[in-house]
Amino acid sequence: MTFQDPSWHPETLAVRAGQARSQFNEHTEALYLTSSFVFDSAAQAAARFSGEEEGNVYSRFSNPTVTTFQDRLAALEGAEACVATASGMSAILSLVMGLCSSGDHIVASTALFGATQQLLGNIMTRFGVRTTFVGQTDPAAWAAAIQPETKLFFLETPSNPLTEIADIRALVEIAHARGVLVVVDNCFCTPILQRPLDLGADLVVHSATKYLDGQGRVLGGAVAGPKRLTDEVLKFLRTAGPSLSAFNAWILLKGLETLKIRMQAQSDGALALARWLEAHPRVARVYYPGLPSHPQHALALRQQQGGGAIVSFEVKGERTEAWTVVDHCRLLSITANLGDTKTTLTHPASTTHGRISPEQRAAAGIRESLLRVAVGLEAVADLQDDLARGLARI
Ligand SMILES: *Cc1c(COP(=O)(O)O)cnc(C)c1O
Repeated sequence: MTFQDPSWHPETLAVRAGQARSQFNEHTEALYLTSSFVFDSAAQAAARFSGEEEGNVYSRFSNPTVTTFQDRLAALEGAEACVATASGMSAILSLVMGLCSSGDHIVASTALFGATQQLLGNIMTRFGVRTTFVGQTDPAAWAAAIQPETKLFFLETPSNPLTEIADIRALVEIAHARGVLVVVDNCFCTPILQRPLDLGADLVVHSATKYLDGQGRVLGGAVAGPKRLTDEVLKFLRTAGPSLSAFNAWILLKGLETLKIRMQAQSDGALALARWLEAHPRVARVYYPGLPSHPQHALALRQQQGGGAIVSFEVKGERTEAWTVVDHCRLLSITANLGDTKTTLTHPASTTHGRISPEQRAAAGIRESLLRVAVGLEAVADLQDDLARGLARI
């Protein structure tokens, strides 16, 4: 390992943490595209397989490029250890499979990423792990949902697309009093804007596909926290196999190097766009934690170092008016993805939330007039011009 100091600032850790140079003394991190590793002797092979000697055996278990990514993300999250996975969903799957058994119970937010909701609400129930979904912003509902079998709280803050903020400290207090672990999906803030472990959470999960890569190239995921917990996740991962590829880990390392400047610039851009939208006569409502009009603005200021890059807003009208804005955009990409340098525009009611019933959508507060912008790195003035064209026609 090259010299490193855990007290370095995040931007320094993002560039330097976890690097281990090979015999060639390469400057940038090496990409080890190899499925397996050789041993010096039969005895060493035996010692590596039994775990008596540390070292790489097979890239489903560990790989030096993946290890560098894990160590760098652990440093950024302030975690003892980190386990990388092939995607964000395989991080969440490995976490549940590693820590829960048949009969266990989870309390989760109703405002989770769609696939996480499906995994916890449908798939895991077939294996005897039940989930109760409760409102993101109501700690009393989380407390009331705890059962003797409750193992975890699972939340994602800010939520997508309405940017509701869960009070991590308050939920940690409730959970820990009852011996329940708290898991936070930190995809939207990244450790640059929010460090859940500092607020008492036990584990952080990531879809590295989003801001950690930040340039829309690869899929990846991670679970970070104390080694005693990540080791349980690793036991499932190395057996079941949704491991991160070395190539994707190398791309993600390059992504992490620019994470701080990207997150700050995208969060600043989102705030500027949110203010402009709030003042626009054709806009009915803006959802952005950095605006004083946001119901949890004070909590967001305490818990986050910025509002994040997701801004949602309702146009005056219904689906037709929202689609008019989408269809007049030439710059913003019409796609459901987020976390890219390229700004994306989504109509949740007909895409990400299109398959749930109109009643469920209404309960979740997803109106037909709602649009979500995931702000990238373009000039805010250009984003405003693009949205203004459609807004002028409604
Ligand atoms: C995208 C996303 C996931 C899933 O990640 P993949 O890398 O697509 O598997 C999980 N949580 C949140 C909040 C996400 O946005």
